[in-house]
Amino acid sequence: MIFYFSAQHELHAPTYEFFRGERVPCFESPARANFVHAELLARGHEVRAPSVDSSAVLAQVHSPRYLAFVQSAWAQWLALDAANAARQPFPSVWPVRTLRSDVEPANFVARLGLYSMDNGSPLVAGTWAAAKAGADAAMSAAPLLAQGERGVFCATRPPGHHAGADFMGGYCFLNHAAVAAQSLRQQGSRRVAILDVDYHHGNGTQSIFYRRADVLFVSIHGDPRTEYPFYLGHADETGEGEGEGFNLNLPLPAGSTAEAWFAALEVACARIDRHQADALVVSLGLDTYAGDPISTFALLAGDFDRLGARLQRLGLPTLFVLEGGYAAAELGVNAATVMDAFERR
Ligand SMILES: [Zn+2]
Repeated sequence: MIFYFSAQHELHAPTYEFFRGERVPCFESPARANFVHAELLARGHEVRAPSVDSSAVLAQVHSPRYLAFVQSAWAQWLALDAANAARQPFPSVWPVRTLRSDVEPANFVARLGLYSMDNGSPLVAGTWAAAKAGADAAMSAAPLLAQGERGVFCATRPPGHHAGADFMGGYCFLNHAAVAAQSLRQQGSRRVAILDVDYHHGNGTQSIFYRRADVLFVSIHGDPRTEYPFYLGHADETGEGEGEGFNLNLPLPAGSTAEAWFAALEVACARIDRHQADALVVSLGLDTYAGDPISTFALLAGDFDRLGARLQRLGLPTLFVLEGGYAAAELGVNAATVMDAFERR
């Protein structure tokens, strides 16, 4: 399989984040993509560098003021104080209910809060370059499907599915799955389906397509009543307006077994079949793995073979985008297992 990889991802290497109130080393580390890259190469897959600029499609899935902020955020942070070069900015105030989000504050930390859903997206000098390379990868991969490739994998980081039209969150800055789906629509796909199999609900992707019927969003994830991102991902979120009926959430209780997970996958696949999509985008989070340090599902290495084989049976040109998965050393094998099973005849 052709996979996209950019060394630019190394530029996004924050040193710490906040987890359960403690300052801890980042779970979302450069090692993740490097393990995936190494394993795919070892198995003979073909690597390519992103070659298509995603700027025009990024402007269709994200708001102009948000893109302008993320692109310049580090420069603004440094402009406040040269010593900030050794510090990571985090938001500490957010425009929740009754507060205004239409007026962009002049204060940098206030703007960081305006454009963040949480304090879980550590931002450093190379964040924009790394995230943009991921979007460019999605943009580069889409035409290959139109040209007849069955599957293409964007093995990029940071992930994207928590990023909404105008906010970052959960390690995500630019929504690569949304870029992929939007790009596929432009390449001639009349209907696109997005299947998000990350442990965490893809709130950003859902919100970007919530009022659209041309892009179906289906997600299997930990129940938001107890699992991140908490405030979206319930079963009663079915879409709005023209998008009514084109959003399917399949939340599962924390600790669910692989059998429960694959039963949900069958429901997801049946809905995708009914959509009669021309192409599929898979938000491939592998934090459903039993060894994941921040998630509670119990998929084993062999289950990723089963996942890849089931996705292959959908019979759709498929663009995979790497999302979460924080058992870094096992991430490469688990991702490559999905790809090998998808390609197996
Ligand atoms: Zn996740």
